[in-house]
Amino acid sequence: MDPSKSRVAAGDAEPGTPSPARRPRPRTADGVAARQDPRPTIAEVAFNLPLDKSFHYLIPEAMRQTLAPGMRVAAPFGPRERIGFVLKVVAESPVKELKEIRRVLDPRPVIGEEQWALASWLSTYYCCSMGEALATMVPGGLRLRAGAGPAASGTPPAVLVPDGTAAGGGGLPSASPVPTGVVMLTAHQRQALPPILEALEAKRFASILLFGVTGSGKTELYLQAIDRALRQGRSAICLIPEIALTPQTTDRFVERFGGGVAVWHSRMSARARSRDWMRMSDGACRIVVGARSAVFAPVQRLGLIIIDEEHEPTYKQEDAPRYHAREVAMARARLAGAAVVLGSATPSVESYYAAARRAGGVVTLPERIAGRGLPAAEVIDMREEMSSRRRFGPLSARLERALAQTVERGEQAMLLLNRRGFARVAQCKTCGAVERCARCSVPLVYHAGRRELVCHYCNFHEPPRELCRQCRKGYLSFRGSGTERVESELHRLFPVASIARMDRDTTARRGSHRELYEAVKTRQVNLLVGTQMIAKGFDFPQVTLVGVVSADTALNLPDFRAGERTFDLLTQMAGRAGRGERPGRVLIQTFCPGHYAIQAAKAHDYLGFYAQEIRMRRALRLPPFVHLIELTVLGSSLPRVEEAAQWLAGRLRRALARRLPAAPGKGATRAAQAGAVLLGPAPHRIPRLRRAYRVHLLLKARSVEAVTPIVRRVLAPGRKAKGLPVIVNVDPL
Ligand code: ADP
Ligand code: ZN
Repeated sequence: MDPSKSRVAAGDAEPGTPSPARRPRPRTADGVAARQDPRPTIAEVAFNLPLDKSFHYLIPEAMRQTLAPGMRVAAPFGPRERIGFVLKVVAESPVKELKEIRRVLDPRPVIGEEQWALASWLSTYYCCSMGEALATMVPGGLRLRAGAGPAASGTPPAVLVPDGTAAGGGGLPSASPVPTGVVMLTAHQRQALPPILEALEAKRFASILLFGVTGSGKTELYLQAIDRALRQGRSAICLIPEIALTPQTTDRFVERFGGGVAVWHSRMSARARSRDWMRMSDGACRIVVGARSAVFAPVQRLGLIIIDEEHEPTYKQEDAPRYHAREVAMARARLAGAAVVLGSATPSVESYYAAARRAGGVVTLPERIAGRGLPAAEVIDMREEMSSRRRFGPLSARLERALAQTVERGEQAMLLLNRRGFARVAQCKTCGAVERCARCSVPLVYHAGRRELVCHYCNFHEPPRELCRQCRKGYLSFRGSGTERVESELHRLFPVASIARMDRDTTARRGSHRELYEAVKTRQVNLLVGTQMIAKGFDFPQVTLVGVVSADTALNLPDFRAGERTFDLLTQMAGRAGRGERPGRVLIQTFCPGHYAIQAAKAHDYLGFYAQEIRMRRALRLPPFVHLIELTVLGSSLPRVEEAAQWLAGRLRRALARRLPAAPGKGATRAAQAGAVLLGPAPHRIPRLRRAYRVHLLLKARSVEAVTPIVRRVLAPGRKAKGLPVIVNVDPL
């Protein structure tokens, strides 16, 4: 399908700067700007496609008075119909035979002034099309009722005033904050709050890193900062990393602020989503709590964005445009003149590095509330455990004993294993062959509950065969424990205890997160086993024991962030223990007891870990000293993928050398001097996924903005290399 055959791309839809808010009005026959034309007849539409082009359509007579930029329309596109966003309305087109728009979806624009600018930034920074950027910002099933509330945007878009006062039309209803639950702040909290409030009062962009150990009272500071934003007549967004945390956090927000809180996450029904969207965009709702995509919540007069557990990888979206909510939050806050508060007990190396370079950039809460100590952590060397036991289960003798004591005392324990399923590998006892996914180059994981072998990448699943499919003689053995295996081990060891498992498999149903959360909170569950889902943010005061079944799940990945991930996960998990009156205990099982990430986590020593990590990053020229841009070529034939990747590497190397200004110096190429180095092509860590071969290139650059225009031009217009699709991942995790 080549859509440009029937509808020529709009002549002025230059990739990279497609926002009508940012560029001159379109050309017309007599040079008069289109916005002055009383009845423009042509709409320029961008679609959610990896295509740096927009398309002209005729506006049917009946729609001419009402159609405006920022509305969604349905229009014929190739053999089908697509939903797109109207970028602008114009009077003339170079294309003679235009097709007509079929339907208008929105009674008023769903894209406001600030959103135009943000979409433009998204498109530029993340190398995606304007259509992809806009589609990311507006939830799929959104239906706006006609006539309700003021328009989400004043059209046509005007220049954005940096302090955000220009955003939105109409006055905001003065929903007054509800001052309930007055809390006496601790001494540390009293020191940490003023810099945050000052940033709000300044009504200019500012970002503050709130570095506070687990249980140090960060959330209380969030609530007070939000209260201040509300009193200023502004709105606040609080991002949380994991949907599993939603009930707990929303309870605290609702308790403090009443019904003015919207909860925004991926599992809402389209109806609830549409209702909340309207409440936000008409100013009725000024507090939003939600996962990643809530960073796009259409609240008016944004004053504050909080990113709780800012180091969490869940803030990175893994589909186009592959944005990181933290970067989007920064960009949006710059546009709105808002403050950003990044909270974490284990800040990302990038955030800490950036914040520590600014005076007052880091605010610290060094202690837990009420003088509670951080739990004592012990490292269990599993190599010794292996040599001293005949039957080898996932739990060491020491962890088993500690669990038994916890159950006896009627306390609660949490066990972390960041791998779901029963067994990681199903292997033939005779020939050694491992069951693999037919579509991906990865082993299948055995799920005992479903009695199936499952691919965790493409979801392929089949019941295990009795005999090995290779030699047809041997039986399968199952190795490498997952959460299911640990759960069944717990049932065997503690038949009378109440045991629950929390991972993606047990929380697939809507409402299941809350049920599990309530069950643990009300102590119906004694032992909770789970993946990283249970490591984050839960505040269960009766949990006195935390066990890490394997600290090594991330350590062995070929990823420069392996140490950081491990440190984060262990620290966060340890933070779940001893949050109440009774002290907590943490047991960490590992085969690498000497690793600096494990040692630092045991000592609760973030700064020690950071010092080692930043030295390594600087020496190896890794983030935060450079940005990475990963380009992955996909295709069904390996030779073609390799050929395309070679072609792409050659084109990029030449373009980088040509376009980046040369710095004086000898030896290094001009591109290297300007801070851009291209590595690869090399096979991907998972060389085949969903039947597609994957070869990737890695670009290291000092500035993303300096290189993405070059990448974009080489891949234009359809983000392809020799006809094969290319995934562009800016700042990959
Ligand atoms: P964090 O977000 O840093 O993990 P929280 O804000 O959840 O910490 O605080 C931990 C616990 O301490 C919570 O139960 C919270 O209600 C309580 N808390 C926070 N601040 C105070 C305070 N100033 N006085 C008494 N209790 C507090
Ligand atoms: Zn697969």
